[in-house]
Amino acid sequence: MKETAPDDRTRALETAHDAALRFLDSVAERPVWPRASLDEMLTAFGGPLPEHGVDAAAVVEEMSVLADPGLVAIPGGRFFGFVIGGTHPAALAADWLVSTWDQNSGSSTLTPATVAMERIAGQWMLEAFGLPATASVGFVTGGQLANFTCLAAARHSVLARAGWDIAEQGFHGSPPLRFVVGTHRHGSIDRAARFLGIGRAELTIVPTDGQGRMSPEALDQALVGAEGPLIVCLQAGEVHTGAFDDFAALIPLARRHGAWIHVDGAFGLWAAASPGLSHLTAGMADADSWATDAHKTLNVPYDCGIAIVRDPADSIAAFRTGGDYLIYSGLDPWDVTPELSRRARGVPAWAALRSLGRSGIAELIDRLHANAVAMAAGLRTVESVEVINDVDYTQVMFRLGSDEATRALGAAILVDGTAAMTGAEWEGRAALRCSMSSWATTPEDIVRTVEAIRGLVAAGSPAG
Ligand SMILES: *Cc1c(COP(=O)(O)O)cnc(C)c1O
Repeated sequence: MKETAPDDRTRALETAHDAALRFLDSVAERPVWPRASLDEMLTAFGGPLPEHGVDAAAVVEEMSVLADPGLVAIPGGRFFGFVIGGTHPAALAADWLVSTWDQNSGSSTLTPATVAMERIAGQWMLEAFGLPATASVGFVTGGQLANFTCLAAARHSVLARAGWDIAEQGFHGSPPLRFVVGTHRHGSIDRAARFLGIGRAELTIVPTDGQGRMSPEALDQALVGAEGPLIVCLQAGEVHTGAFDDFAALIPLARRHGAWIHVDGAFGLWAAASPGLSHLTAGMADADSWATDAHKTLNVPYDCGIAIVRDPADSIAAFRTGGDYLIYSGLDPWDVTPELSRRARGVPAWAALRSLGRSGIAELIDRLHANAVAMAAGLRTVESVEVINDVDYTQVMFRLGSDEATRALGAAILVDGTAAMTGAEWEGRAALRCSMSSWATTPEDIVRTVEAIRGLVAAGSPAG
């Protein structure tokens, strides 16, 4: 190993600082979609393992130059693909310190500063969402792992109530567990179920309406005769339409059958933090667990997902570990998530929440919603564009007259580079979707995007 002199480190950090600012300064005008392919990036970074090292600053400079054409302008204002937030300045700077401090944040005893920041961030989020202050909050990589973490606690709890200890007895031979989901659930629910030993054919799938909301009548029907271990997954924010399940109608139905009720609110849970949008989540606080992301709506850097469980005893039962060398001090982060060693990924969430305050959080969410409304209104002025969804939250889905034209427009937008958005299938037809998830998006960004689309539609087949 090469000796690292202190000024090597200083130069490396200064080089990274310069490269970071160069990148951030470029996002407003660079093409949003990457210009280089994965193969080109593999060639740029590849070759055999170098025989000899170079100094740290040279490494950082080399990577920043080589990576540049392969970077996507996610932190800019015109990336609307998938559901992906930008990075709030306080969260970004805090994230630099997370790596600098290098605190292995699974244990309260080892790393009190970062564990305290995460615990407070968790309490602030519970407060903002109107969820019980005594719930457990686990910081995981994202919504996928948050869903898994909550559902592992759910599985443990519903089986324990049926007299079965899954930690001791395993899943084989347990009482049958019914797992109920909506047609328009996120794919990460199926994947979480799979990790938990629940196969696709075992899911009870409840029909949803034209926006992707679970129908109360259909849930009622699906639960006829349901006794014993039962988990019902609801959703705050359908990934294409942004639609919210009617929690006030659905949760009491599921309760009547003794279900554990889980809410996937990867980006939708944040609606609860806005007085203007919290009607969307009415009744949601009566569930048993909630999954969300900070790297989407709160705009912290990747990765930061949050698993919230009403009764901490359920998450502890699912996750507390042993090991004679581990130090226990009450509730440790590793007691409520599947991970042991990890970075202090909740610290940037603390910084974003501290920087925004309650009113700033509400304003951020209201602005994302207003951006979606403005984007939908702009798109409706473009010939042959049809906005498909009710724009109740942050998602806008649209199409042209034919699937072919819609897909061609999607490809043309990425080549054009003014903005980026991604496609989907909705009720058997091709669609394009804009997710308004970035704090950095301005009204001008929306106008530029709409005008770019108008030009591309005019240049393509005008009949759509
Ligand atoms: C994004 C998303 C997920 C998965 O979250 P990751 O952070 O990508 O792991 C789950 N559910 C919904 C509704 C989502 O939008």
